[in-house]
Amino acid sequence: MATAVKPDIKLEPSPNPFEVAQQQLDEAAELLELDTAIHHLLRWPLRELHVTLPVRMDDGSTKIFHGFRVQYNDARGPTKGGIRFHPDETIDTVRALAAWMTWKTAVVDIPLGGAKGGVICNPKELSDGELERLSRAYIRQVGRMLGLKKDIPAPDVYTTPQIMAWMADEYAFMKGYNEFGVITGKPLALGGSAGREDATARGGIYCLREAGKILDIQLDGATTAIQGYGNAGSFAHKLGAELVGLKVVAVSDSRGGIYSKDGLNYSDVLAHKQNTGSVIDLPGTEAITNDALLELDVTVSIPAALESVCTVRNAADIPAKIIVELANGPTTPEADKILYKAGTYVIPDFVCNAGGVTVSYFEMVQNAYNYYWTEQLVHERLDEKMTAAFHAVHDVAQVYNVHNRLAAYLVAVNRVAEAVKLRGWVA
Ligand code: GLU
Repeated sequence: MATAVKPDIKLEPSPNPFEVAQQQLDEAAELLELDTAIHHLLRWPLRELHVTLPVRMDDGSTKIFHGFRVQYNDARGPTKGGIRFHPDETIDTVRALAAWMTWKTAVVDIPLGGAKGGVICNPKELSDGELERLSRAYIRQVGRMLGLKKDIPAPDVYTTPQIMAWMADEYAFMKGYNEFGVITGKPLALGGSAGREDATARGGIYCLREAGKILDIQLDGATTAIQGYGNAGSFAHKLGAELVGLKVVAVSDSRGGIYSKDGLNYSDVLAHKQNTGSVIDLPGTEAITNDALLELDVTVSIPAALESVCTVRNAADIPAKIIVELANGPTTPEADKILYKAGTYVIPDFVCNAGGVTVSYFEMVQNAYNYYWTEQLVHERLDEKMTAAFHAVHDVAQVYNVHNRLAAYLVAVNRVAEAVKLRGWVA
C-alpha cells in the first residue's frame, strides 16, 4: 500500500534569495552599462550538482538526504565558498549564496571565484556519528567537482572545523593522499590557519572601525544588538567589545533573544549558551524576540544569522546608525532603498563578512607552501584587505551617489566582467 510521502525538499522561501541576488546584479549592470552577454552570463551559475545521500542512522535505518554544490563563476580563479547544513536549504538559496561568494572574492581582490554548497538537514537532530557519515557522504558525491584548482569548500551555517576535518579526511581517501588545501576552515592540527576561526567577525569589526572614523561616530560605548550567536555573531560580541569598545545590549539565536540595558558580558553569554544550548534565559536579562531585536534603538545593529531579515516590512523601523552585515543576504533590495533614504550606513554583507574567505585564502596559501604564519601576521594581512575593500566601496558610493551595496556590486562586477572579457568568453 502506498504511504503518503512527507515533502523532504522545501519550496522556495519568499523572498527568493536568488531572485534578490539577480535583482541586485541587474541594478549594477544597468549603472555600469554592462555588455548584455556578460550581464546574462553573470545572472546564472556556470555549474551545479544536485546530490542524493543515503546515510546510515544510529538506529540502523537509512535516511535519504538531499544536497547541492553550485559553482557560480570561476573567471577570476577556482571557485570558493562554504557548505551549509540547514533544514530550510534550497537550491535557490545556495545559488544566491554562490553568487554572493563571487562578488565577495572579487571585492576583497583575492584570486578566486564563487561557489556554495548545502545539505537539507537539521544538524541539531543528528548525533556526532550521523553528522560524520552525512559529511563523508556529501564529499563522496561532491568530491568529483572539488580540487585545489577547481573548487574549495569551507564552513558556513551549522558546519564546523570538525566537519571540515571529516570532509578533508574523506577527500584524502578518495585521492589516496592528503590534500589539505582543498578544504579550509580546518582545525589547526590538520593544516588550519591561525586566525581563521574569528576571521568573519574580525573583518566586520575592522570595517566598522573604518565606518566609525568616516561617520565620526564614537564606537567606544556604542550600544549594539547582535542577531545570531553562531561563529560570526558570538565572535562579533567578543571582538566588538575588545577591538572597538562596543556595548552589546542584546543578542539572540534561533530560539530567541536577551536584552540588558547595562550590557551583556561575552563570557557570561558564551558559558550560558555552552551549558544550555541557547542564549535565552540568561539570568539578569529580559527576553526579546528576534524581530524586536532589529528594531531596538541602538547605534550599531549586527545581523549575523540568515538572509532576508531586513525587508520592506521592518526597514523603516530599524533605528541603528550603522548596520554591520555579518550574515549573507540579510537585507532585501526594497529595504536597501528605505535604509539609504533614512541615512543608515549599511556595511554590505559581501564586503563586511569577507574576512572568513580572506583567511580561508590565506589558509590555502599556507597549505600550498606547507609553512604557517603567526596569528599576528594573519590579522595584519586581513586588516589590509578589509580596509582596502571597505574604502574602495565607500569611495565608489560617494562618486556614483548610490548606497553601499550597489557600490560594492559596481566594484566587484567590474572585476569579474574584466576577467570574463579578457578570457574571451564573450565577443
Ligand atoms: N562561508 C563563509 C562565507 O560565506 C566562508 C567561505 C570560505 O571561507 O570559503 O563567506
